[in-house]
Amino acid sequence: MPLVGQDRKGRSLAIDVTIYGAGVFGLGCAWALARRGARVRVVDPAGVGAGASGGIVGALAPHVPEQWNQKKAFQLDSLLMAENWWEAVAQVGGGAPGYARTGRLQPIEDEAALTRAQGRATGAATLWQGHATWTVEDAPEEWSPGTAQVIRDTLTARIHPRRACAALAEAVQALGGKIVPDATAEGMILHATGWQGLSAMQDEKGRPAGNGVKGQAALLRLDRRDLPQLYADGLHIVPHADGTVALGSTSERDFEHTDTDAQLDDILTRARAAVPALAGADVIQRWAGVRPRARSRAPLLGHWPNRPGHFIANGGFKIGFGMVPKVAEDMADLMLDNHDAIPQPFRSDTLAPWANGD
Ligand SMILES: Cc1cc2nc3c(=O)[nH]c(=O)nc-3n(C[C@H](O)[C@H](O)[C@H](O)COP(=O)(O)OP(=O)(O)OC[C@H]3O[C@@H](n4cnc5c(N)ncnc54)[C@H](O)[C@@H]3O)c2cc1C
Repeated sequence: MPLVGQDRKGRSLAIDVTIYGAGVFGLGCAWALARRGARVRVVDPAGVGAGASGGIVGALAPHVPEQWNQKKAFQLDSLLMAENWWEAVAQVGGGAPGYARTGRLQPIEDEAALTRAQGRATGAATLWQGHATWTVEDAPEEWSPGTAQVIRDTLTARIHPRRACAALAEAVQALGGKIVPDATAEGMILHATGWQGLSAMQDEKGRPAGNGVKGQAALLRLDRRDLPQLYADGLHIVPHADGTVALGSTSERDFEHTDTDAQLDDILTRARAAVPALAGADVIQRWAGVRPRARSRAPLLGHWPNRPGHFIANGGFKIGFGMVPKVAEDMADLMLDNHDAIPQPFRSDTLAPWANGD
């Protein structure tokens, strides 16, 4: 591996790391790398937040606290890192990612759900190590997911995805990083190219490393900024700091276009049925994006097999914003310090050798 600041023949470089993709994974890694002194250049012909990351939902919600595994532990670490991580982004760049740990309410539909919820409260007490709670309580009257009792967790946070990307871009540039539509690669190369990148990376049998899963979401004008987000009828209902509430999302493996359509109307109907407080609120934005889903459904991180000096950060799928602080710091550990802490289920180098793609 070349040293930072040198190419493979030991010649001096102006850029230490070229990052393809200005979504939250590319920008998040650029931020972590630049913060540690690397000179970074982010290349994306479509611009900042043009892909899945330029959206409006931004639920940073934990996995259920039971049947613990490496993926859940990684996500917990990332959620716990998020507040300080995003605060530093805001301080250095001056942008406003819209982060707040406002918690979440989920419905308890019946006795079986109540028993499950109580079991998970015990799980959270151990697995979340005192950092957050999972409790069963009576639903508040004005803002609830529609059942008499609810689960409240204090780990869930919100972020404004599009603004978070803009804030990361500002922070990277404040540290001297560049964000450009086109450039020749220099130094180490990180591929954070979202679903297009996953589709293009193919193994020897021609199987892609992953695919895109479209999602549609809506933004309503309704000021619930200090209230928890709701999870109702399988939908995330996320109050943002600017007096809007986001609703999402559809999950479409097969899609012919990337616009919104009648499936989003269905989401609006379901959300309003579950949460009457949404009924009179105007829809001020409809948005669709395509999530990067790796074959494993987990993030895909680490070395690009058989391509020395090339790295991958991809596969954020439905929780890319929740995962990004830890993804970015682990990638910076790997790329700058050769310290490899990437969990086994996420490792790109355990996949079959890849034939092509970038
Ligand atoms: C409707 C919807 C709701 C969601 N809700 C949430 C949520 O509530 N919470 C959460 O945590 N996550 C959520 N997600 C998921 C999250 O948005 C994604 O996991 C995350 O944005 C993925 O980031 P990324 O940087 O990997 O990909 P992207 O944001 O897609 O970025 C990839 C970038 O690579 C660029 N690119 C592609 N090819 C090249 C190339 N050859 N050279 C240079 N650049 C290239 C593209 O232009 C793009 O800008 C949601 C996604 C959707 C669609």
